[in-house]
Amino acid sequence: MALSAITMVVFLVLVLTGGIGPWEALAGMTSILALGFIYYLVVTRPVPQTTPPILTPVQQPGIAPTELARLIVGRLPIPVLLIGPGGRIEQANPAAHDFLGLGAEGAQLSAVLRQPKVLESISGALRGESPKPVEYSTVAPMESHIRAHVIPLKTDQAGPFPWRALLVMADETSIKRADRMRADFLANASHELRTPLASLAGFIETLRGHAREDIGARDKFLSIMHDQTERMRRLIDDLLSLSRVEMDEHLPPSDEVDVAAIAHDTVDVMGPQARKKGIVLEAKAEDRAIAIGQRDQVIEVAQNLVENAIKYSGAGSRVVLEVATGLSREEAERSRPPLGDQSARVAIASPTGQGGSAPRRYTVLRVRDAGAGIERRHLPRLSERFYRVDGQKSGPKEGTGLGLAIVKHIVSRHRGGFVVESAPGEGSVFSVYLPMPSQAPRGEMPAPDRM
Ligand code: ADP
Repeated sequence: MALSAITMVVFLVLVLTGGIGPWEALAGMTSILALGFIYYLVVTRPVPQTTPPILTPVQQPGIAPTELARLIVGRLPIPVLLIGPGGRIEQANPAAHDFLGLGAEGAQLSAVLRQPKVLESISGALRGESPKPVEYSTVAPMESHIRAHVIPLKTDQAGPFPWRALLVMADETSIKRADRMRADFLANASHELRTPLASLAGFIETLRGHAREDIGARDKFLSIMHDQTERMRRLIDDLLSLSRVEMDEHLPPSDEVDVAAIAHDTVDVMGPQARKKGIVLEAKAEDRAIAIGQRDQVIEVAQNLVENAIKYSGAGSRVVLEVATGLSREEAERSRPPLGDQSARVAIASPTGQGGSAPRRYTVLRVRDAGAGIERRHLPRLSERFYRVDGQKSGPKEGTGLGLAIVKHIVSRHRGGFVVESAPGEGSVFSVYLPMPSQAPRGEMPAPDRM
């Protein structure tokens, strides 16, 4: 703009001194003005904002920012407290009230939270220091792991105590527990593999040494070595199967499967194994029993349960696979006929995430045996990885302790239920029930013979 003004003055001087004519001066000045305008449009004019800013302050109409902050803190599911001079609790949200069991009146933090490291941090924050987060654990009334964040806040209050401490408590119990379970699992898995490996190494050493020429001993040792490698293979197969199931656990299946057909197939596949032990294996199933499920996984459930029933039953006994459909959850959980008076029942998994208003109907797969049975105290732990009941008379050594953990995870993925009923000396009934598609027909459980 300044350049245009200077140019116009130059043109005026040229006209007055007779250097150029008035029309030539007018044409020159117009071009200079047009150029100046184009320069302003293209270069100097601010570019209008075409995209809105990514973050905008959120306010509800009619709610002042401080009131909004109070509402948000009040609804946070984690304990938040404002601590004043001398460690007095000035404000606490409902989560903090529940967590520390605060009464209506204000209290000293030290009276409700006996954690010296947290109290020390609070004292520091009240002097304006910025302490690091403090972790502490409790064992009673139950195990918990807390990370306390202490943040100094300066108020505009005059006087010697302008500082307050904001205390935010994050419950990390479930994270710690998951970490520990992962570590335990690794330790257990490597221990389970190390035992057969050590025994293999021992036999190889013996075969290279004094048993080198002893044909009888060599055959015996080779047969034991074969069993140990089989055991390691089973362990690795089960570990892989468990990790595959766990990976998909959050994605429920959507296909339909016929559980009755799976029961008949299982009897065909496992029949030879049962016959080898002198056990009668049979299926009592309706013609068709539909459930929402992934076929391979339902087959894995049926085979694991039947394999156990065969393993933990003596010669001459019967194992029955019962299938029924259209049952309510209560009907699905109780076997008919029940085991004797001494029996105990534990629900290892229960259905979750059922939408819709109509009550769900289930298809049940039940494996009933007349084997060793399991004492009540073991039932809740059966689906823990590597858990095996000690001292079972008819129990073989080849179990991995992972079969029922796999069943439990498959059932959870299917949003179904898993119930174990057992009476020592009488036998066991393992029931798995899976949700049916919405409008499948209702049927009755075939009454099995009493074993
Ligand atoms: P395993 O490979 O050892 O059989 P599982 O996870 O399948 O592992 O079972 C865990 C434990 O539960 C078994 O070691 C056994 O003690 C007990 N168990 C499972 N099924 C039966 C059954 N039908 N009868 C008696 N005990 C059983």
